[in-house]
Amino acid sequence: SIGEIPKTHKVIQFHENSESLDVLKYEDVAVPEIGDDDVLVKNKYAGVNFIEAYFRKGIYPSEKPYILGREASGVIAKVGKNVTNLKVGDHIAYLSGKTFAQYTKYSSKSNFLKLDSNVSDEKLKLYAASLLQGLTALTFINESYNVQEGDYILVTAAAGGVGLLLTQLISKVKKAHVIAQASTDEKLESAKRAGAEYFLNSSKLSADEQVAKILEITNGKGVHASFDSIGKDTAELSLAAIARKGTFVTFGNATGPIPPLALNRLSAKNLKVTRPQLFGFVVTPDEYQHYTSWLFKLIDDGTLKINVFKTYPLADYKLAAADLEGRKTSGKLVLEIPH
Ligand code: NDP
Repeated sequence: SIGEIPKTHKVIQFHENSESLDVLKYEDVAVPEIGDDDVLVKNKYAGVNFIEAYFRKGIYPSEKPYILGREASGVIAKVGKNVTNLKVGDHIAYLSGKTFAQYTKYSSKSNFLKLDSNVSDEKLKLYAASLLQGLTALTFINESYNVQEGDYILVTAAAGGVGLLLTQLISKVKKAHVIAQASTDEKLESAKRAGAEYFLNSSKLSADEQVAKILEITNGKGVHASFDSIGKDTAELSLAAIARKGTFVTFGNATGPIPPLALNRLSAKNLKVTRPQLFGFVVTPDEYQHYTSWLFKLIDDGTLKINVFKTYPLADYKLAAADLEGRKTSGKLVLEIPH
C-alpha cells in the first residue's frame, strides 16, 4: 500500500568525495517536493551500478551532498497537477539519479516503463535489476559497434553485471564469438554459461599473453571489437587485440580513466574508437521504446537471463559497494528499499 508520505526519508548519500567507502551515509533527509509535471515514486528496488563508485571518488563531478542511485522500480505515491500519464498506485521502472532513497522525484515527461497494476515483487526486482545494464549492453552492441554474425568480440569483466549481458546478447542474439576476460576461473565459468567460447584469466595471464592468445584464437587477425569497461589497465591490451578496421568500444573506468590517447595511434590498423554512455542512446521516446521493448522481449522469452548476485537492504549499500568494487561479485546487485 502507498500509505501516507512522511516528511523525511532514508537515503544513501555522501558529503565529500573519497576513495574510501566510509563517506557513504545512510541518512534522513526531507522528502522531495514535486512540481506540477512531476511524480513522487515510492521505490521498492534499486539496481546497483559501478558508476556510483565514480561519483563517490569524484571521477565524475556531483553536487554535495549527493544521493546515489541510477535506476529503480516502485509505485507512484503522488502526482503533480499537470500529470495525465500516471496516477497514484501505478507501478513504474525508470532510470534516474537519486534512487538509493525511499522516495524519488521524477518528471512525468521523462521516459519510463509502466508496469502492470498487479506486478509481483519478483518482477519489480527484475525490472530494477535489468533496465540500466540491459539497455547498456543492447544499445552498445547495436550502436557503438553493430556486432555481426561470426565476429570475434572481446568482452572484459565478462562475468560482471554488464559483462554477462553483453556475453549473452553477443553470443545468442548476434551469433558472434565471445572471448571473455575475467579475474577468476569461477567468473569465467559464469561467462561460459552465458555463451562465451574463449577465456582469458587476467590474474593468471599477463596482458601480452592475453593478446597472444586472442591472436591465436582469431588466426592472427584480432577481434572485430573490444567492449572494454576496465579503462586504464586494459586500453593497451584492447588496442593490441583489435583487428585491422576494428572498433574499440571503451565504456568504463573500473581501473581509472584512460589517459589521453594520441589519435595517430589508430592509423596503424585503421581502428575506430568510441566512448559511449547509455543515456545518449535512449534520449527520444522512440529510442527508449525501441530498446526497452526489445530488451524485455528477450528477457520474457527466456533468451536473456538476469543473474541477481545478491539483494541487500538499502542500509547495507556500503557492503554492496565493497563487494562490487572488491571484484567479489558476478551479475547484478540490487537494493531493497524499506518502508
Ligand atoms: P561489474 O559487475 O562489471 O563490476 C566491475 C568489474 O570490473 C569487476 O567485477 C571486475 O571483474 C572488473 N574490474 C577490473 N579491475 C577492477 C578494479 N580495479 N576494481 C574493480 N573492478 C575491477 O560492474 P557493472 O556491470 O556495474 O559495470 C561494468 C562496467 O561498465 C563499469 O566500468 C561501468 O562503469 C561500465 N558501465 C558504463 C556505462 C556507460 O553508459 N558507459 C553503463 C553501465 C556500465 P574482474 O574481477 O573479472 O576483472
